[in-house]
Amino acid sequence: MRRLAFGPEEQFVRDLGLYASIFTVPNRLNLDYSGRLFSAPGTIAGVYSARQNREARALMFFDGDFGDCDYRDVGAQKQFVRQRFAGQGWHVPQILADMEFAPDFYFDTISQVVIERWSRGRVALLGDAAHCASPLSGMGTGMAVVGAYVLAQELNASPDNRQAAFANYQRRLQPFVDASQTLAHKAVGGFVPKSKFSIWMRNLMMKLLPLLPVEAMLKETYAAANAISI
Ligand SMILES: Cc1cc2nc3c(=O)[nH]c(=O)nc-3n(C[C@H](O)[C@H](O)[C@H](O)COP(=O)(O)OP(=O)(O)OC[C@H]3O[C@@H](n4cnc5c(N)ncnc54)[C@H](O)[C@@H]3O)c2cc1C
Repeated sequence: MRRLAFGPEEQFVRDLGLYASIFTVPNRLNLDYSGRLFSAPGTIAGVYSARQNREARALMFFDGDFGDCDYRDVGAQKQFVRQRFAGQGWHVPQILADMEFAPDFYFDTISQVVIERWSRGRVALLGDAAHCASPLSGMGTGMAVVGAYVLAQELNASPDNRQAAFANYQRRLQPFVDASQTLAHKAVGGFVPKSKFSIWMRNLMMKLLPLLPVEAMLKETYAAANAISI
């Protein structure tokens, strides 16, 4: 729909330089409502338990260059994941072996969508299609649901003037979207540490977390989440 009304996605999609792949694996580590992560420079492999621990999801985040990512070519995407994690220790070889038999497979770039105007004619964009902030913001679901609510409110307030409703919807949501997209931009550098030293620093910070002023550290996240009132 967006391509039809707004043109090719290349104009709007901003690649943040990372990839994510997620798939179902057996819960081999007997994880009990928990997860584990393994980092090497430029990659994170993780597993967390799912469905009351009956199964697990593997979670791979990594940098690299897949070129013009074909979102239909699952074989090439799996090959890229295998290549990026080749030679790693921990449970990575088993995770890669399980990937071959996974009943599902998610692969995508970590990207944002930036469009100046979210409506054109009778079409208004909502959620990720209008303003994806990427998984790194942690705000995508909130923006999609709150955006739907605000759009409904505005259509209800201006039933005979769709253009005014669309404009008001974007005006009210934009600060929330901008703040959420900024969160992801700030997170991208540290999300997948690129050197052994940064991995060490990240691990140290995790250990010190109980002693750190977490409320103060999350100030920007709270500010983004409260950047709209409905
Ligand atoms: C790995 C990952 C982790 C995330 N973590 C978080 C998090 O912790 N917190 C958070 O808030 N957000 C998170 N997000 C973001 C969140 O999932 C999205 O922002 C949110 O789902 C966007 O909602 P949406 O309705 O706009 O799009 P979607 O949830 O993508 O829904 C769009 C729907 O449209 C369907 N569709 C597509 N094309 C067509 C078509 N032509 N015809 C019919 N149907 C179609 C799709 O199948 C899909 O079901 C994460 C995202 C990812 C990828």
